[in-house]
Amino acid sequence: MTFPQNPDLHCHSTTSDGTLTPEELAARAKANGVDLWALTDHDEVSAQQRALAAAAAQGMRYLTGVEVSVTFADATVHIVGLGFDHTDARLAEGLADTRDGRGPRAIEMGEQLAKVGIPGAYEGALKYVGNPRLISRTHFARFLVESGVCRDTAEVFRKYLTEGKPGFVPHRWARLGDAVKWITQAGGVAVIAHPARYHFSPTVEYALFSEFRQHGGQGVEVVTGSHSAQEARRYADMAREFDLAASRGSDFHSPDESHIDLGKLAPLPADLTPVWSLLTARMH
Ligand code: AMP
Ligand code: MN
Ligand code: MN
Ligand code: MN
Repeated sequence: MTFPQNPDLHCHSTTSDGTLTPEELAARAKANGVDLWALTDHDEVSAQQRALAAAAAQGMRYLTGVEVSVTFADATVHIVGLGFDHTDARLAEGLADTRDGRGPRAIEMGEQLAKVGIPGAYEGALKYVGNPRLISRTHFARFLVESGVCRDTAEVFRKYLTEGKPGFVPHRWARLGDAVKWITQAGGVAVIAHPARYHFSPTVEYALFSEFRQHGGQGVEVVTGSHSAQEARRYADMAREFDLAASRGSDFHSPDESHIDLGKLAPLPADLTPVWSLLTARMH
């Protein structure tokens, strides 16, 4: 088997908070030269069969994927799972529990935004939701941009949807050890997503990486649409220090919103173990 030259192992479809269908993403990935792809919707694997078929139709190799929301040290951390059995019952149950609070949380977000003079945000966000089980802050952000409250989604998050801001509703997601276990027990590899996004203190970051490893986590995203070149170098060092495999993924959500397109990423540093080398038996 030839080694993949341009893997992209992180993106979102209309089944979570992306704006393209799995088929549209597969075509775009292929057009951009991706030769190993994974769709990693938030807390949801129901589009995996479609993504797998779409990748095959494009002649592109595929790894199953998911991005699990986790609460660690009172903050939200994302754990990507790759190469698992997407029909695994324990994984499905864990993801269903993780998704559970999203509905009530969204209603409360709408109530809080109404109190600061933005009525109808819950109903507005719902118009952007492709999967009723998965309403996310991104859908609110799209509504607030469309209705002219903010210029772009980045501004919405900065002003309304992040910790301490009026539309932010704290939420308890899955536990780190559970998320890693659901993925690994279904035959996959767990990967810490975009670590630079968490802005943890060195102590908390060290705890995240060591606990993740103790639970059986094996990878970290080094090259991602969420990292600068400097951050990629920093997390390449963390991969070496913690003996983790390295992953690469754009985190593409939408042609209108994402800075980095599918397949348009820098290569991984050559000395790191690429996460897909642990998953050759799981490739479709
Ligand atoms: P949720 O799972 O509902 O908390 O929504 C999280 C999603 O919001 C992430 O997966 C991103 O797609 C999006 N997001 C988070 N922070 C930002 C930001 N600062 N700018 C744009 N999108 C963001
Ligand atoms: Mn997202
Ligand atoms: Mn994420
Ligand atoms: Mn993501």
